[in-house]
Parts: sequence; structure tokens; C-alpha cells
Amino acid sequence: MALLTVHGLSAAYGPLQVLWAVDLEVGAGESVALLGANGAGKTTLLRAILGLVPTLAGEVSFDGEALGGLPPDARVRRGLAYMSETGVFPDLTVDENLEIGAFALPRAQVAARMAEVLALFPDLAGRRRALGRSLSGGQRKMLGVAKALMGRPRLMVMDEPSAGLSPRMVGAVFEILARLREQGLGLLVAEQNVRFLDLADRAYILEGGRVRGQGKVADLRRDDAVRRAYFGLEEA
Ligand code: ATP
Repeated sequence: MALLTVHGLSAAYGPLQVLWAVDLEVGAGESVALLGANGAGKTTLLRAILGLVPTLAGEVSFDGEALGGLPPDARVRRGLAYMSETGVFPDLTVDENLEIGAFALPRAQVAARMAEVLALFPDLAGRRRALGRSLSGGQRKMLGVAKALMGRPRLMVMDEPSAGLSPRMVGAVFEILARLREQGLGLLVAEQNVRFLDLADRAYILEGGRVRGQGKVADLRRDDAVRRAYFGLEEA
């Protein structure tokens, strides 16, 4: 059984329908990329999985439980985490951001979890009292990942983790995600940077709000049309 199952999901902003009967699955510990041009609906799909945008039809299940009607915080308590493109609170310190990320943990576990997470991010460990806004773009992104990890998620849903980063920082974010993946964390990542496909077992291609293709990344790379459309972009 898949960890995350999206079935027949449709969503709209007022009269503008942007997702049409989307089906998608992520297995436990699996790493899945979501490809698609600007406006294809990737952000809307990720936000719908977290309950952050209302849906017209369809169902999202996590670990066998239908999530319909559950608010985002209840979904996070069940083991989902979401990292948006922006990711952190600029007016809060590193520690405060991490504490917010830990909202679903028992209070007694927060300090120990913070130490565990900071051990993965030495740059942040040295700047715990710094405000989010004072961090470099790369450090902010790392803080976004760290904050999402605080709740011990089983599946991390990420929107363009490479956006706005220098190639060097893209490499650093890639390395940390590769490590988390090795530790068994499931990933669902919307990305346009082809480097991130090296992280993914499978990919889905979203076009105009519909799934137009899916498969193992190795197979998609061999498909000429897919390669032209999605695998030649923005090499880091
Ligand atoms: P990008 O990579 O540019 O973020 P995307 O694939 O993530 O693109 P979405 O952000 O999900 O796509 O947008 C899908 C469609 O929905 C677009 O046509 C967009 O203009 C529209 N849209 C997104 N957010 C809203 C909103 N809050 N209100 C109205 N329309 C929206």
C-alpha cells in the first residue's frame, strides 16, 4: 500500500479549475519528482495534499487514512511535512522557527529533536539566535528543511527547493535531501532543476493541471519528447 495516495483530485480558484482528476502515489521511503511548466498546477497539487487549498473532487489518503476535511495541522500530525518556496518566518530566530516546526511534538521532546536536526545543519547550529531574514538564501532554505523535519515526518512535500539558490547552494540542498532519503524519508518534490531528478525514483509530469505521464526517472529520461520538454532545463 502506498504511503500517500491522491485519487481523482480536482481543484479550482473560484471559476478557474487548475487540477483535473489527478492520480498520484508515493510509497513509504520513496522519492518522487513532480515536473511541469510554470502554471501547470504543481504548487496547487502540493498545497491540496496538505489541505491548504480546497478541492472540488477526489481524495487524498495517507497511511491508509482518508484525509478529506482534515485541516493542515492534523495532516502534519499524521506525518506529512510541507516546505513552501519561502519556507521560514523571517522575523523569528532559527530556534523559534524550529520550535514552530515542532508544534506537533510533545514539549518534552522538542529540545532533543532540535539537537538532532541541528546536527544535520552545522551552519544553522552556529546561528541559533539569528533572525530568519539575516540568513543567506541557502541558509534560509536549509532552515526551511530543518523546520519541516522537526515534526519527524514520514513524507516531506517540497515546492522547488532549488528556487533562488546559487549552484553551490543547490548542491548543498541536494546533498542534505539525498541523506534524508537514505535515512528512509519519503520525498515528493516539485522541481524544474534537473539535478533533483537524480534524487527521484519516479516522476509525474503535470501539464495544464492533468497528469500527462509518469514513470521511473530512468525510463522518462529515455523518452525524447519528455527529455526535450523537461530534462534540458536549468542545469545547475
Ligand atoms: P509555478 O511553477 O509557476 O509555481 P505551478 O505549476 O506551481 O507553477 P500553480 O502555482 O499551482 O502552478 O498555478 C496553477 C494555476 O493556478 C495558474 O494558472 C495560476 O495562475 C493559478 N493560480 C495559482 N494560485 C492562484 C490563486 N491563489 N488564485 C487564483 N489563481 C491561482
